[in-house]
Amino acid sequence: MRFSKLRLTGFKSFVDPTELIIADGLTGVVGPNGCGKSNLLEALRWVMGENRPTAMRGGGMEDVIFAGAATRPARNFAEVGLLIDNSERLAPSGFNDSDVLEIVRRITRDVGSAYKTNGKDVRARDVQMLFADASTGAHSPALVRQGQISELINAKPKNRRRILEEAAGISGLYQRRHEAELKLKGAEQNLARVDDVIEQLA
Ligand code: ATP
Repeated sequence: MRFSKLRLTGFKSFVDPTELIIADGLTGVVGPNGCGKSNLLEALRWVMGENRPTAMRGGGMEDVIFAGAATRPARNFAEVGLLIDNSERLAPSGFNDSDVLEIVRRITRDVGSAYKTNGKDVRARDVQMLFADASTGAHSPALVRQGQISELINAKPKNRRRILEEAAGISGLYQRRHEAELKLKGAEQNLARVDDVIEQLA
């Protein structure tokens, strides 16, 4: 599973449709200050399910939508697509039936975010799980923000452990365990209610 292309429309400073080819080996992005290099990395995090506006350097998630410039009006939506080469069929099960996998996230003002994989509507959770199972995702330690190295050096052991767990691909299991625990709790509450009803009938 290899990222092959990033497509952006209306995302932060990338108001016009833009494609970034991610070739084999190293891809370098160079440009003057403020030209949008960090915005590209944020687009990658965002399409993988980032849901903290602060991680996008914004106050709210709609801040990722192009806010307008002197000569261009603001946009009403932002969209990022990530193309994944899955010819070696390494995508997690459920997403593994085609050579190319395209994940698209779109945010519309006053509506919120919607996700698609290969044109089909999916939940944010499905996309987050897909990347967690592939040992990557919005919080992947492979995506290094400015200032993150010093944060890591000063991090508490618990936070460092989370990074190791993400690298090992087990963070998706924690989410599943949490969901299973919630279901179990719901089932226990239902059983208690059934007991009450039986007692009243007896
Ligand atoms: P540096 O080299 O200084 O770190 P950079 O190349 O990483 O800069 P970014 O931080 O990615 O640049 O881009 C910042 C630019 O993106 C600024 O010009 C800012 O105005 C613009 N920008 C951010 N959010 C939006 C938005 N919602 N709408 C329009 N422009 C935006």
